[in-house]
Amino acid sequence: NSPEIGSRARTHAIMEKYGIRTKKSFGQNFLTDLNVLKNIVKAADISRNDNVIEVGPGIGALTEQLAQQAGEVLALEIDQDLIPVLDEVLAPYDNVKVVKQDVLQSNLPELIKKEFTDPTKPIKVVANLPYYITSPILMNLLASPVKWATICVMMQKEVAQRLTAKPGTKQYGALTLAIEYQMNAKIAFDVSRKVFVPSPNVDSAIVVLRPRTTALLVQPFDKQKLFGFIRGCFAHRRKSLWNNLQSIVGKEPEIKAKMTTILSDLNISPQLRPEKLTLEQFINLANALHQQDL
Ligand code: SAM
Repeated sequence: NSPEIGSRARTHAIMEKYGIRTKKSFGQNFLTDLNVLKNIVKAADISRNDNVIEVGPGIGALTEQLAQQAGEVLALEIDQDLIPVLDEVLAPYDNVKVVKQDVLQSNLPELIKKEFTDPTKPIKVVANLPYYITSPILMNLLASPVKWATICVMMQKEVAQRLTAKPGTKQYGALTLAIEYQMNAKIAFDVSRKVFVPSPNVDSAIVVLRPRTTALLVQPFDKQKLFGFIRGCFAHRRKSLWNNLQSIVGKEPEIKAKMTTILSDLNISPQLRPEKLTLEQFINLANALHQQDL
């Protein structure tokens, strides 16, 4: 009976046996702390009734913990060199499938239909994400038509703080709002950089995202355009909303007049910094500008 993959000793033994050198280009930092691994699975609230997708299994430390609790686990790994390793170390678990995939290129609905025995079970994403593409992966997951029951992911602490930021703070921005549009985000716990091989230059945190339980009070006329507009409003964070809006829609007197009326109707002070606005205020503003052909 070998010790679990996520123990320091076993991780080093596996890396030595297969001659694995971690690749920075794939954001490879392997987690070697069984407590942290088990707490991630707890935070994700995994049971035998769940289908789990893991992004980036590495050498399988988290995958093994998931396999012990989940119904089935589908692990998507971009690094071809790790596939034979994963096949071997995870051989004791018959509820795990590893596929070589770039998650940013995957057709997730199709994979789910093809790889899970019962694709109608709740689908949860659990991952220690490659840090260099945390936001693109999250945006991809949220843009997909799959209804995720939970997304429980480890990321750089600063990014976790942006995901869960409140209006008026310096972490609050377009990423916060893109998440809030669909999900409730909570930081479950922080993780020290010391528990990774190799150790990254930043600390991490586990974020749990669940579908919103309350509907938005207003709907945007177009979601894509809403988020283009929000990014525009945050282009110069230190400038006022008014200055940012001028860069987006123009400075001509009749445009300024329309903007003044819109902002006053919505009770939004033009002198506010963009970070003071709530998601609903951004939606109202985008809708009103659209209605006025701005
Ligand atoms: N899950 C392992 C752990 O916790 O020890 C490894 C986590 S490591 C931070 C990130 C993993 O994601 C690496 O195995 C890396 O090869 C993989 N990866 C990087 N980019 C990916 C992509 N676009 N699609 C799928 N996997 C990717």
